Amino acid sequence: MARTIYIYNTLSRRKEEFVPVHPGMVGLYVCGPTVYGEPHLGHARPAVTYDVLVRFFRYLGYKVRYVRNITDVGHLEHDADEGDDKIAKKARLESLEPMEVVQTYTIAYHDAMRRLNTLPPSIEPRASGHIIEQIELVRRIMDAGFAYESNGSVYFDVPAYNRKYHYGVLSGRNIDEMMANTRSLDGTGDKHSPYDFALWKKASPQHIMKWPSPWSEGFPGWHLECSAMSEKYLGDEFDIHGGGMDLQFPHHECELAQNTASRGKGGVKYWMHNNLLTVNGQKMGKSLGNFTTLADLYKVYSPMTIRFFMLQAHYRGTVDFSAEALSAAEKGLKRVLQASKDFRNLQHASGAEPNPEIAGLSEKVIEALCDDLNTPVALAHVFDAVRLVNQAKDGSLRLSDADYQSLSEVFCKLVPDVLGLIDEVSASSEEKTVEGLMDMILEVRREAKARKDFATSDSIRDRLKELGVTIKDTKEGTEWSM
Ligand code: ZN
Repeated sequence: MARTIYIYNTLSRRKEEFVPVHPGMVGLYVCGPTVYGEPHLGHARPAVTYDVLVRFFRYLGYKVRYVRNITDVGHLEHDADEGDDKIAKKARLESLEPMEVVQTYTIAYHDAMRRLNTLPPSIEPRASGHIIEQIELVRRIMDAGFAYESNGSVYFDVPAYNRKYHYGVLSGRNIDEMMANTRSLDGTGDKHSPYDFALWKKASPQHIMKWPSPWSEGFPGWHLECSAMSEKYLGDEFDIHGGGMDLQFPHHECELAQNTASRGKGGVKYWMHNNLLTVNGQKMGKSLGNFTTLADLYKVYSPMTIRFFMLQAHYRGTVDFSAEALSAAEKGLKRVLQASKDFRNLQHASGAEPNPEIAGLSEKVIEALCDDLNTPVALAHVFDAVRLVNQAKDGSLRLSDADYQSLSEVFCKLVPDVLGLIDEVSASSEEKTVEGLMDMILEVRREAKARKDFATSDSIRDRLKELGVTIKDTKEGTEWSM
């Protein structure tokens, strides 16, 4: 723990030495997913970034409380105050209870993250489970004079807040300039100013997710949950708030304003933002048709390859996803994992002179991670270690005890425990059994079809259907899903 760690703080726009609020402890809050669809590539990057951060702090001896929320209410389309609730919309389209949607995609998210070998958070609070805390927070912001009620909804008063504090400090916006350039200062609908944002929204009669409040039957604004839940679980001042760069504005800017309005301080020491992904050079998005679900991707590339691929870039840089880049990552990962195995079989010949280059390697990996989580530099040092293991294996290099210790730290701790690179996270034993049984059943059906025994092949298909297993014959073979 005696090491100095530097973190780039979005708030100050520079790297700062990390000094925790409470010595030896790290409070980390990361904005989690809005669970209304299959987990996709965009979910993987923050998950892997903050996973390495958590693992690294723990490796250094810190006690980490890692809170990552599940957004299950209040996230409206267009990330704004208007439009449908994303979850309610999905529920209506599929004739489900909103909480069925939430449950389905929370499980899918957990599974996708487990396969990326990310550790679960210490606490995973849901927005819908913290309505009381959010109502209380709205009340505090109103009492402080930074929010107003309008037709049953409550809005954050951005101009009033900006007279005392600086709205826009996180994302580098100047609201005075923005207001000077706006022709009409009148709000739209119930808002006094177009910059105000909802803390509480009155629900329309057909809106399904709503709760009683002092102002109306309604639901909390999207930004509110993270202020309420981070304060509840990490206190009114905590260390690190993370999330994707796309959340900087408006989500985190509004969160910071809510914190300051209700407690008189921002409450977060370091704001960390991971950069986004591009796919073949284009920004990821549904409209571009490159909205790759992780489940689809895992069929082609192993989750560990995807993890390795992300770590090859610094978290503040963009990452471009392409088939070539992933194939290269696959090869790189293979070399690291092979060297990890080979290292365990190496005899270390005592008596050899320590080699300063080797003995310092594990330290270099740690130093790179201390420097704002520089995983590409850390991996470059890991590849130096890979080269040395290969030399030791073919007998062209003799390792001293100190060399061996350093390589052991790299391959037995830093690579698996901090970078989280291991042989694939295996499927559960039930999953393996089901897969084996399905292979067997489909083989029998294939044989039946081959001898034109369609009664048997159809009967297998129908009986599988009764069990909830759908099969589909394609050119490549038979696909199944349950
Ligand atoms: Zn959030």
